Amino acid sequence: MFPEFDYSARLDRARHLMVQRNLDVLLLSVGADLPYFSGYEAMPLERLTALVIPRDGTATMVVPRLEAPRVEPRGDAFVTRPWDEDENPIDIAVSLMGTPSSVAVGDPTWSVFLLALQEALPTARFVSATPLTRELRMRKESEEVDWLRAAAVATDRVVARLDEIRFSGRTEQELSRIVAEMTLEEGHDLATFAIVASGPNAASPHHEAGDRVIEMGETVVVDFGGRLRGYCSDTTRTFHTGEPTDEVAGAFATLESAQAAARAAVAPGVAAEHVDRAARAVITDAGYGELFIHRTGHGIGVEVHEHPYIVEGNGLPLEPGMAFSIEPGIYRPGFWGMRIEDIVVCAGDGVDELNRSPRRLHIVG
Ligand code: ZN
Ligand code: ZN
Ligand code: ZN
Repeated sequence: MFPEFDYSARLDRARHLMVQRNLDVLLLSVGADLPYFSGYEAMPLERLTALVIPRDGTATMVVPRLEAPRVEPRGDAFVTRPWDEDENPIDIAVSLMGTPSSVAVGDPTWSVFLLALQEALPTARFVSATPLTRELRMRKESEEVDWLRAAAVATDRVVARLDEIRFSGRTEQELSRIVAEMTLEEGHDLATFAIVASGPNAASPHHEAGDRVIEMGETVVVDFGGRLRGYCSDTTRTFHTGEPTDEVAGAFATLESAQAAARAAVAPGVAAEHVDRAARAVITDAGYGELFIHRTGHGIGVEVHEHPYIVEGNGLPLEPGMAFSIEPGIYRPGFWGMRIEDIVVCAGDGVDELNRSPRRLHIVG
């Protein structure tokens, strides 16, 4: 499922950071760090899977025997150590670590495994792996950008198809299923979410599609995405059944300007929070500041939400290769909601826009 990247080079870069940060072992279990460094995605099971990466030495994939056939060899990036049902995988992982004084553990590692590791290594200091792994994951290699673009372009094709269908008379759930099917048909390996929020439900940013029937004269927020060869898509377009009221049209014009201002703000050296401010200033100036109730965006890659977060307080300077969403919204509780979401990449000279489907209010029947 994951493409053939240079996983050895990624592990070498991780080891380089381990030296700088005085970390002896990096241990990655379930979650997105594992496929990023190995191309293998573990099922979240009670049987331990862990990539054990000593600072000096070979990385080893400790994996249940029955899962081992799914682990693709990735050059000499790591060796595989399948464990049998009568073995204790914690003992195996610990034996691969020597006597570490510090171990960085992937955030989604089950606590039951972490507790056992801590008991087996009482003198070691355990820290989160994320401050290390995010340094690599948030700076995309050019092939990663290619996969993100392929996924984004596939969602753009879904938007074009949605323009052609009738919304009113369908339930949110029915439309959500249609969006998910189209997401697969347009080339994703997985459709991971399809938010359809109509009428007053549109004021809830992460509304779960329900049995509400879409009527004429409503905004409908469609926020969806999937995974293509392990890389995520995530886009939102706002539809309207029939012609909008002046209030909705006016608010949407503000939203479009805000989203455009945030895209235009993206450049190397610009702080992540500055992109948030660019969108927020437009919405606040138009009097809707109180109705923009979330951050402007999130990083995206092997996970749909990852670093860098486009939020006030994040002074991280953007660098070429950083990929993230720009998704301001305006939500009037009890009445309507609207959001425009694109995935963009910070480029050497500004912004590389991966989503290109029209950002206007999409009028449908
Ligand atoms: Zn969201
Ligand atoms: Zn989204
Ligand atoms: Zn998003």
